[in-house]
Amino acid sequence: GKLRVGLIFGGRSGEHEVSLRSARAVIQALDGERYEVIPIAIAKDGRWLPPAESWRMLPSASIPSTPHSSPERDAVTIIGDLNWQGLVHLGEDGTRVERLDVVFPVLHGTYGEDGTIQGLLEMANIPYVGCGVLASACGMDKVAMKSLFRAVGLPICRYLWFLRAEWETKPSEVIKRIEHEIGFPCFVKPANLGSSVGVTRATDRASLEAALTEAALYDRKIVVEEALDVREIECAVLGNEDPQASLPGEYVVLDRRAEFLDYTEKYGQTGHVEFVTPAPVAAELVREIQQMACRAFRAIDGAGLARVDFFLRRDTDELLINEINTMPGLTDVSGYPKMWAASGLDFPQLLDRLIELALERHRDKA
Ligand code: ATP
Ligand code: MG
Ligand code: MG
Ligand code: MG
Repeated sequence: GKLRVGLIFGGRSGEHEVSLRSARAVIQALDGERYEVIPIAIAKDGRWLPPAESWRMLPSASIPSTPHSSPERDAVTIIGDLNWQGLVHLGEDGTRVERLDVVFPVLHGTYGEDGTIQGLLEMANIPYVGCGVLASACGMDKVAMKSLFRAVGLPICRYLWFLRAEWETKPSEVIKRIEHEIGFPCFVKPANLGSSVGVTRATDRASLEAALTEAALYDRKIVVEEALDVREIECAVLGNEDPQASLPGEYVVLDRRAEFLDYTEKYGQTGHVEFVTPAPVAAELVREIQQMACRAFRAIDGAGLARVDFFLRRDTDELLINEINTMPGLTDVSGYPKMWAASGLDFPQLLDRLIELALERHRDKA
C-alpha cells in the first residue's frame, strides 16, 4: 500500500504563509503512486484542522487534479501513539481511525522549526522528516546557534544579544552597549524567527530604536550584529549520520534597491535578486563551503535536512556562517530544492530521500 504521510503546515509563527507555500510545493511534488497525503493544517491561532478544512487552507491551485486523498474525506487521524483530544481529528462519523506512517512537519519558525512539534512527535513515537528536538531548538535560536558554532571554531560575525525586558526597562543602556560594541550599520533580529521577519538594518540611533521596537514584537530575545558587505551564499545539507552537502547557490543582487534579503526580496518576486545555482565561485571555495556546511550541521546535531547560509565578505574574502535553518523554505522560489536540483536530485527524489531518512532515523532510535 501507499505510505501515509501526515503533512503538517501553517502554524503559529510569523512564517505561516511561507509554510503554506512550502506545503503546496511538497504536495505537488510527492509521488502520488507511493504516498497518500493527509493534510494537517495548523491555523494561525493554533487550532489543528481536519483534512477537509486543511485542504482549504492551501491556495486552490495546489490541490492536485487527482488528489492523493479526497478533500471531502475527514476521517479520524491519530498521530502515532497519541490519542488525546488535541491531536485527534474527529471525522463526520467520528469513528474511523487511521494511523500515519510518517509526519512531514513543513513548518517554519516558532512552534514548528524549533523543537516543539518535534518533541510532540517523539512522544507520539512516529517517524518524522528533519531535525530532532535538540537540533531544531538550537538551529532556531540564533544565540544558541552562534554559541555552538563558536564552540566548534566556525567563523561568525560580531554580535551581541539581550532580552526584550532589558530593552524595555533600560533602553539607553542597551543602545549604548550596541553603539559601543557593534556600531553602525548593524542588523537587528528577533532571536527566533526566519524569512527575515522582524529583521532590520539600522544606520543611526533613530533607526536602531525603530529596529529594536520592531524585533521586540516577535521575540523576548534580540540579536544585534555588525552589518557586513557580503555576497550571500547558501548550501543545502541532506542526511543523518553521514550528511552530504549540495553545490552552493548564491543570491545575486541585480538591483541595489535590494538593500538586503528582506521578506519582500525573498518572496515578492521583485526582480532585484536572483538565486543562482551553482554559485559562481572557485572549486576550492565550493569545497570549503560544503565542509563548513556539514560542520555546522554536526555542531547542532542535525538530521534529515538543513540549509546553511554563508556570508562571503567583499572586503576580506572571509567566509562566515550566518545561520542554519533546520526546516528551510521548500516553496517554488526556495533555495534548498534548487540547490539539490543543481546537484542532480530533483524535488520528487529529494522528498523520497527525506522520507527515507525519517524512517531510517526512527529505526536507529529503537
Ligand atoms: P531565513 O531563515 O529566511 O534565511 P532569517 O530570518 O533567519 O532568514 P537572516 O538570514 O539571519 O534571517 O538574515 C536575513 C537577511 O538579512 C540575510 O539574508 C542578509 O540579507 C541580511 N543580513 C542579516 N544579517 C546580516 C549581517 N550581519 N550583515 C549583512 N547582512 C545581513
Ligand atoms: Mg534563518
Ligand atoms: Mg529560516
Ligand atoms: Mg538566512
